[in-house]
Amino acid sequence: MRTELAAAEALALILGETAPLAPESVDVRAAQGRVLAEAVVATRRIPPADNSAMDGYAVRRADLAAASRERPVALRVAFEIAAGAAPQQSLHAGEAARIFTGAAIPPGADAVVRQEDVEREGESVRIPLEPRPRENVRDAGEDIEPGQLVLEPGTAIGPAHAGMLAALGRSVVAVHQRPRVALLSSGDELVEPDGDVAGGRIVSSNSYTLAAQCREVGADPVYLGIARDTPEALEERFRAGLRADVVVSSAGVSVGDHDHVRGVLAKLGCELRFWGVRIKPGFPLAFGRLGQSGALVFGLPGNPVSAMVTFEEFVRPALRRMAGHRSLFRPLVRARLAERLAKKPGRLHFVRVVLEHQGGEIVAKSAGNQSSGALLPMLRGHGLLVFPAEASELAAGEVASVQVLDPAFLDAPQPGF
Ligand code: AMP
Ligand code: MG
Repeated sequence: MRTELAAAEALALILGETAPLAPESVDVRAAQGRVLAEAVVATRRIPPADNSAMDGYAVRRADLAAASRERPVALRVAFEIAAGAAPQQSLHAGEAARIFTGAAIPPGADAVVRQEDVEREGESVRIPLEPRPRENVRDAGEDIEPGQLVLEPGTAIGPAHAGMLAALGRSVVAVHQRPRVALLSSGDELVEPDGDVAGGRIVSSNSYTLAAQCREVGADPVYLGIARDTPEALEERFRAGLRADVVVSSAGVSVGDHDHVRGVLAKLGCELRFWGVRIKPGFPLAFGRLGQSGALVFGLPGNPVSAMVTFEEFVRPALRRMAGHRSLFRPLVRARLAERLAKKPGRLHFVRVVLEHQGGEIVAKSAGNQSSGALLPMLRGHGLLVFPAEASELAAGEVASVQVLDPAFLDAPQPGF
């Protein structure tokens, strides 16, 4: 087992153990946010036929070469085509066809004149202009041609993807399974939110933050409850999580007398790949794989911010990879520091920062108390500023990288139109 790794080494070890989960078939309606496990190749044209972009009259341009506002040309309205009806006849010289938006262009027609631009009189229509070639005609296949690779494996499905899949005739699609994550908390001091916090107890808030972080990344959390600080209680909870893809515990993984997580994992045949990462918050992070089930195991530190940040930096990319995503990381922006930051060299710090748009650039300032127990700056902040391990100072006005966790600072007060 390795100890005291740099953040990048720890992440590389984790990702080296992580692969996309097997595919499953899902209804496209329920596939929002899921990741394609197949290539989607078009087997049809979209649109399937030339069709009208307007309500109006399908015409032959040759008939209208002499048309003008002063001398409109009268055409006989020979037939009508509604959307969904295949044209039964061709358009001949001197004829127009009444046509509606989405209806197929009849053979012989080469443009559509909008109904607003014509005068209808009984069985004939007076047209005061010569339309451009294929004016108001949507060409067959202008969006999609058969054989075209429309969606690559690894594509995350959003609303436009769902619509496109449907248009291609696909109501069921192969996506990667969602990672199932067993979550357990450990500590004699922990109670559930409705429990009594007298006598040194605290609420196990990590169960809530970690479950929400799982959901946010599209994983499926299964809560295993709170284990007391005994090896037996921990072992029982860990065993309950063996069938999950990933087991995430919080607390009890440090070097205190009551920190039994590492011993219990060893007993369960979990070979730890590393313990301890040179970061703050979150140093006492353990990672391994369970011998029996192959589940990945993350022993996160117990402090609320440490648990959230280590999940964010190490568990989240692994879950994204398991879910099939190609891109694993948050948006990274360059932000100008509104104030000086200082620390001892040696550990990479993730500084909770508030971001703001100011004069075309992004400005970062501390979101408040940087203690690993203080959750409030985590909800006030928009991101984590990466304060490199060997640096000891970032001056006010300097530019640094910030991982954006909450893009709310980009929300606009107006719609932009
Ligand atoms: P430990 O790793 O067990 O030493 O815990 C470190 C700190 O995190 C202690 O102050 C614990 O009380 C706190 N802590 C542990 N588990 C949780 C939890 N599930 N929710 C909130 N705080 C916790
Ligand atoms: Mg503890």
